[in-house]
Amino acid sequence: MQVDVLNAKELKKAAPVFGQLSFDNHEQVVFCNDKDTGLKAIIGIHNTVLGPALGGTRMWNYTSEWEALNDVLRLSRGMTFKSAITGLNLGGGKAVIMGDAKTQKTPELMRRFGEYVNSLSGKYITAEDVGMETSDMDIVRDVTPYVAGISEERGGTGNPSPVTAYGVFMGIKAAAKYKFGTDELEDRTVLVQGIGHVGEALVEYLTNDGAKVYITDISEERLQEVRNKYGAIIFDEADIYSAQVDIYAPCALGATIDDETVNRLNCKVVAGAANNQLADEVRHGQILRERGIVYAPDFLINAGGIINVYAELEKYSKQEIISKTENIYNTTLQILETAAKEDMTTHFAALKIAKQRIDDRKKSSLK
Ligand code: NAD
Repeated sequence: MQVDVLNAKELKKAAPVFGQLSFDNHEQVVFCNDKDTGLKAIIGIHNTVLGPALGGTRMWNYTSEWEALNDVLRLSRGMTFKSAITGLNLGGGKAVIMGDAKTQKTPELMRRFGEYVNSLSGKYITAEDVGMETSDMDIVRDVTPYVAGISEERGGTGNPSPVTAYGVFMGIKAAAKYKFGTDELEDRTVLVQGIGHVGEALVEYLTNDGAKVYITDISEERLQEVRNKYGAIIFDEADIYSAQVDIYAPCALGATIDDETVNRLNCKVVAGAANNQLADEVRHGQILRERGIVYAPDFLINAGGIINVYAELEKYSKQEIISKTENIYNTTLQILETAAKEDMTTHFAALKIAKQRIDDRKKSSLK
């Protein structure tokens, strides 16, 4: 049967991995299964032209294996472009572990996962993402050197989330400068969706800068905690997407901007930490642009974490981490201006620069 006469369902059956839209030329995908610990994980290695594929491990209770596969492919692809645009000599990779981090994560499972990472001999380097703690990375470190974001006691740079939040804060300020003519956030309204490791630190930066911060989370406990600590306001309307705020900062999971939500947005800027905020980067990027909503590309402004963990490998100083992260402000402003000048979406403008860097490296290595 020819592929072009297959319907979508048959096509998925015929090309379940290489045929996935999100596959996008991944170099390698590793399925890890361990009966004894219950580990079911997928490691995606998207591209290693610029260096080893570095990206965190996410543990999430996926509703299906398809969902997990799609997530890891989208995330690892995003890492390729994140490192490329940030100027790091790293490729893109990511891992997902299927399961509930609160109830199913055990030291044995993490150790076994580390052994899988080790078996790739450094082609993939892991770190933390949603559902992971620095202590989990320390366990992984016991069985492999190919892990970053380990604790400071063990010679690492610790939890990368505060640096990620600082970079996102820089991205928000740059987007504000572009949209409102000033990066002063005094009295600007910001909705932070997801107040976990990154979201909470971002709330702190924003409130210290005088912004009026609204928060949402699926955890009532987190909401109370962050409200009490920073005086943020719990957003209690049913539809968070139509919130009348200046800035919407997605800091939970990805793909919150989809066919359902994109036309409901009432904000003027979208800038947050979550990876892959646009469910469809072409279509939803274009709709945001047409609606005059400034979108600060996620993979550009949430690079603080990878800048932080890269320091562990390259041994650069805390000061350098901060200055590289601060530079996110300049890069974001440049990308927003370039996109307007060249009449393209901000996502595409950022992607173009990242892809160019990879192509240049490929060409120079062929010489
Ligand atoms: P986290 O697990 O610490 O926090 C996520 C928070 O989002 C939790 O409080 C959770 O309850 C909440 N949440 C989940 N679903 C939600 C929903 N539907 N609505 C509202 N809240 C919801 O994760 P994190 O480390 O803070 O990462 C947040 C996002 O930023 C992720 O998308 C992650 O991939 C991305 N990111 C993180 C880093 C980092 O350094 N940690 C770096 C780059 C990108």
